[in-house]
Amino acid sequence: MKHFLLATCATILLVGCANEASDTPKEATKAEQPAVTPEVQKLIETAKNGSHAYDIVESLTTEIGPRLAGTDAEARARDWAVAKFKEIGLENVRVQPFTIPGWERGEETASIVAPYAQQLYITSLGGSVATPSGGITAPIAFFPTFEDLEAAPAGGLDGKIVFISGRMEKAPDGAGYGPANRKRRSGATEAAKRGAVAVVIRSVGTDSHRFPHTGQMRYAEDTPKIPIAALSAPDADQLERVLSRGEKVTIKMTLTPRVTGDRPSGNIIGEIIGSESPEEIVLISGHLDSWDLGTGAIDDGAGIGISAGASQVILEAGLKPKRTIRVVAFGAEEVGLLGGFAYVDANRAELDNHVLATESDFGATAPYEVQSGVSAGEDVLKQIADATGLPMSDVRTNGGPDIGPMSREGVPTMRFQQDGTDYFDLHHTPDDTLDKIKPEDMATNAAAFAVMAWMASEADTNFRDTSDSASTE
Ligand SMILES: [Zn+2]
Repeated sequence: MKHFLLATCATILLVGCANEASDTPKEATKAEQPAVTPEVQKLIETAKNGSHAYDIVESLTTEIGPRLAGTDAEARARDWAVAKFKEIGLENVRVQPFTIPGWERGEETASIVAPYAQQLYITSLGGSVATPSGGITAPIAFFPTFEDLEAAPAGGLDGKIVFISGRMEKAPDGAGYGPANRKRRSGATEAAKRGAVAVVIRSVGTDSHRFPHTGQMRYAEDTPKIPIAALSAPDADQLERVLSRGEKVTIKMTLTPRVTGDRPSGNIIGEIIGSESPEEIVLISGHLDSWDLGTGAIDDGAGIGISAGASQVILEAGLKPKRTIRVVAFGAEEVGLLGGFAYVDANRAELDNHVLATESDFGATAPYEVQSGVSAGEDVLKQIADATGLPMSDVRTNGGPDIGPMSREGVPTMRFQQDGTDYFDLHHTPDDTLDKIKPEDMATNAAAFAVMAWMASEADTNFRDTSDSASTE
């Protein structure tokens, strides 16, 4: 309960309920009042009085829609982002191009052939090979969890379609995703090693709707590539019930995805150039690509709206940051963080000048805590947390999926942890659409990002512990 109150208060503070605290004794109010400068106050008011972030995600999801990495739709999204960044008033707007291995979805159907003939709802995982034309019809080998498959002896699954179930736990921070995701990433390889001809998994998700969840899979180099698809949760339940009757269960699946060869992708970069230290960069970001089933609203149109919207708030407030605030819309995140890696390759020479970096890629709900990935200047992060009405967390962050690669190169990071309890109900399904986003939550997030970018640009610290290099000099 205490946790709930804390999060609720934090949210309200960020959207401005300072007056409601007037019942509390004056001294206590003064002592707890965060040090909010007039500039920070102006940023919060500008964000909460507008719909900057929401308007951007509304524009992206309406005018582009789904934007699978490497497709013409992602290319149209890049053009959209360049135009939007310029419209906001960002400078140095540019595309950082790179090439990715293209993949596109085809037909995807499945059914139980015997003993109880009926249709199943499936979707191909990203990167999967196709079934032979005419599909694959084969008996099921059932594994309740991915760990059960890993523990199975070599061989023994010749000619079988492997079914891996296993439920994902709901959690505010999405802690259930990593463990549940193992079957999606490595299920095909582990099944192929043991002789299987195809795989179906219970979707990596927390809903009970009849939409299967897609997502990227991987093949090992030295193992045969076999097709893999996800079943919706109710279809996985149904298949388990049919199996529980003890008879041999045969299913048929047809997938016709195709590899499209080298395809263009790219990151879009725009900046508010710093007035005193333009070479020093505070980076805020989201990813531009999405899966192809929904319109990529929560994943990650929201992050594009929040980061670009925050920069718009700073410009509209008329503030001139000392350091450069760089907005990045990463390409090709869903297919392996390819934009994040391409950014590191292209910007290696200036990574030492990256002062602080973060990404919004966990939906559109309001944040409930601030996580640190810095080695110095933690007091400034605490001030940012205070100014946005949020507590500091003990959890360490790498700043977000696309920030991970630069974090590993030493770039300091932070993250506003959003409440993702229901995020995986929608994630990577046709249900990832704009109606799931609340405009007021987007304004709260944009305020937090604007405050963070501003305070980091004005801070004396560069968030790096330089004591090692200092001692060698
Ligand atoms: Zn994402």
